[in-house]
Amino acid sequence: MSVFEVEHDGDGGRVVHVVPERPGPPLCPDCGLPAGRAKQWVTARAAHVPIGLEPVTLVVHKRRWRCDTPWCERASFTEQVPPIACGARLSQALREQMAVEIGDQVRAVSEVAATHRVSWHTAHDAFAAVADPVLERPLQPVVALGIDETRRGKSRYGLDEQGQRVLLADTWHTGLVDLDGGQGLLGQVEGRTAETVVSWLGAQPAAWREQIRVVAIDMSTSYAKAVRAALPHAVLAVDHFHVIQAANKVINLVRRRAIHARYGRRGRAGDPEYGMRRTLLRNWEDVPDKRVNAMWEVFLAAGGAGEQVLACWVAKEQLRAVFRATCASGVRDRLTTFFAWCADHSHIPELAALAQTVSTWRHEIAATVLFGVSNAASEGTNRVIKLVGRIAFGFRNPVNQRRRARYATTRVSRRPSSRSEVRTRSPKVIT
Ligand SMILES: [Zn+2]
Repeated sequence: MSVFEVEHDGDGGRVVHVVPERPGPPLCPDCGLPAGRAKQWVTARAAHVPIGLEPVTLVVHKRRWRCDTPWCERASFTEQVPPIACGARLSQALREQMAVEIGDQVRAVSEVAATHRVSWHTAHDAFAAVADPVLERPLQPVVALGIDETRRGKSRYGLDEQGQRVLLADTWHTGLVDLDGGQGLLGQVEGRTAETVVSWLGAQPAAWREQIRVVAIDMSTSYAKAVRAALPHAVLAVDHFHVIQAANKVINLVRRRAIHARYGRRGRAGDPEYGMRRTLLRNWEDVPDKRVNAMWEVFLAAGGAGEQVLACWVAKEQLRAVFRATCASGVRDRLTTFFAWCADHSHIPELAALAQTVSTWRHEIAATVLFGVSNAASEGTNRVIKLVGRIAFGFRNPVNQRRRARYATTRVSRRPSSRSEVRTRSPKVIT
């Protein structure tokens, strides 16, 4: 293409006139022989990638050609030039630009559409045209699979043809994540029941399912049920984050109870126990010794209920220690220490309940440690899912939401340089 004229469009934009440069006449689409003569000029107009903030309209001047082949039925044809597809109102480059802005720069569709003066649907379709082929590619092998729920938004209901109330959008999405490779979010399904997870897994090729060695879930019985049904060969693990989160919940409950017992009301700024609420949840090694000592003094001074808070804090640290074990007997010993501590403090109902939960999931906790499962990938993915949701100010259409979220989490694996090195290492197994 060569530019032969640039003018202002009178509306703050530029109009760029280009003409295709070609060494000879194009080939007739019917007979495949070179065309005879140029017949007339026609123009194709399309919005193009802006220059800075200035919108650009591209006007391609094309020729109509006559076919002189005696036996060819085609009288004339317009030469095809790559930047603008036939009849399109946007150049291919602008479509790709919008897809990059929506998919890779994670901008809102409405904002990208406004920037390029196109409709929401046009911008969204440009993104979907780029995203769908990427997302429809067969999945690479996955050794460690993470399953986690994310809150999507409010549930929405509608009426079907028979006038029955049907669920249009569930509050929850279940995300399936490649924990060990770079594939990000592998899929998202509506809802968080065992059936939805089983049906997603069942839709994948059997050979792909066979490769999965370990599956990390939160302590959810429905996901456990799904994994046992659909991936009976895989080892089930519960991720570290959710176990410690359960312990932290217990600390908060007992702390609130202690404050209520002492003051007869909720905690407020100025209460020494309330001031320690975050210190209780932090990792022991990250808190300065002085602060730890101050925390002990505050709760010892609060009497029996305060001592219960400290007992729960010790239990949380013992539970954290389980995840730092380096061998199977280490896990066993540390779990035993934790259970013994909880048994000694069985008068704290919240702690007794936590011990019960941990006991239920003890094999899965051991698997997490021994297989070195980290849910960092899952957490990172959840962050991206939430970010995409916030940028869009919420999604009405869950299908669009899943497409946007999945595409955004595959940014790393889509980079050509790293695609070849998507890791598929075996998980470390300590015995
Ligand atoms: Zn022809």
